Amino acid sequence: MVQPVLIADPTRKERRRPTRQGKTYFLRTFGCQMNEHDSERIAGLFEADGMLPVSDYASADVVFINTCTIRENADNRLYGHLGHLKQLKDELPGKVLIVGGCAAQKDRDIVRRRAPWVDVVLGTHNLDRVLDLMDHAQEWGPITEIAEELQSMPSDLPVRRELAHSAWVTIQVGCNNTCTFCIVPAVRGVEISRRPGDIVREVERLAADGVVEVTLLGQNVNTYGRDLAIDGRRRPVFAELLRRVGEVEGIRRIRFTSPHPADFREDVALAMAETDAVCEQLHLPLQSGSSRVLARMHRGYNVERYLSRLEMARRIIPDLAVSTDIIVGFPGETEEDFEMTLDVVREARFDQAFMFQFSPRPGTEAALQVDEFVEPEVAQERFNRLLEVQSENSVALNRAQLGRRVEVLAEGPSKKDRTVATTRTRDGRVVHIPGAYPPGTFLDVEITQAAKHHLIGSPI
Ligand code: SF4
Repeated sequence: MVQPVLIADPTRKERRRPTRQGKTYFLRTFGCQMNEHDSERIAGLFEADGMLPVSDYASADVVFINTCTIRENADNRLYGHLGHLKQLKDELPGKVLIVGGCAAQKDRDIVRRRAPWVDVVLGTHNLDRVLDLMDHAQEWGPITEIAEELQSMPSDLPVRRELAHSAWVTIQVGCNNTCTFCIVPAVRGVEISRRPGDIVREVERLAADGVVEVTLLGQNVNTYGRDLAIDGRRRPVFAELLRRVGEVEGIRRIRFTSPHPADFREDVALAMAETDAVCEQLHLPLQSGSSRVLARMHRGYNVERYLSRLEMARRIIPDLAVSTDIIVGFPGETEEDFEMTLDVVREARFDQAFMFQFSPRPGTEAALQVDEFVEPEVAQERFNRLLEVQSENSVALNRAQLGRRVEVLAEGPSKKDRTVATTRTRDGRVVHIPGAYPPGTFLDVEITQAAKHHLIGSPI
């Protein structure tokens, strides 16, 4: 079991004396990396308050559910969990239940109405308030507090990282885009970038603490710095930040997520190619292969522009692995539109694709286009066809790795077989190797077998 690390940020004023010494907590996180990292901050606050982590709802004094609202089933799962927690709370009235994250930010009143037994409901902008709100709930009863604007950058809070050798680093929160299917701007707010110096100092602290890999987090990293001005005029840009983080001693791997194709330019591709630590991995969400559908999605690019950015990245960065996101069944999508998506996927040869069926999110423009919703069985049939085309690509591109000698970073024992270690290449491929290697160990392996979603290797 990897020993998580509690980092007391030296710049952070001590908030308060621990008041919950020895109490236990359990954190359940749904959704994206942003939520994973917010949960590390909540865990940091809990442990700074004297609490200890446990691994299930039943044995925890405090339960925090960090919610997602990106797709319908995320909501359904939340209320399923809250129903189960009601029984536990009935048995142990002192148990504290907290609901945070994007679903709480968006549906605070619905959460309160459907789960009145929840003690604290807070959003994505006021993580720093969680301990005060727990005090309030214990004194005065259930409380809901949602901030419409960011109160403090997550990076200002203590963190308890899941992995000792690898860390998320928030560079920007929020998104200024208006993709018609996406609820993120409504729950995460406008883009706010951290100052480059703060980010570099955090990475230096992480490196001093033994971290060798950092993942820079933002909803749209390519517009990083757009809201900042240095010496009153010039704005920092993402390419520059990549180079500066790449100079930090001890950091051997840099990843980032997510870039937006409309803003992905040559300066970032050059910074990736010219900065040794930046990994040859790019996540470039396509969403649809039909320019007509992309326009309806307000994505801000068409297929030609997307493919030209992809071609530019592959030309500048050798051995680049590319992953993407695709939505099937967007309102109004015709069979012809979908065929275009299949054509682009065949042409682009993505190493990996995260494929989803359109899920109407209340509060988004696309959710109002009810008359043009694609029949569920039609969407499912298209989804299956897309899965087939992408699987062929993934298998073929993984097979092309056979015989290659590559550097991998150990992440820990494989979940399925503890005699096998899970490791990852620079371009993001999972490689299982026999034996046990401490997380954070670099080693060279030869790729001996290839499957759809992973490779098998043997240490050289
Ligand atoms: S770029 Fe679009 S899809 Fe991505 S978070 Fe922003 S609004 Fe959502």
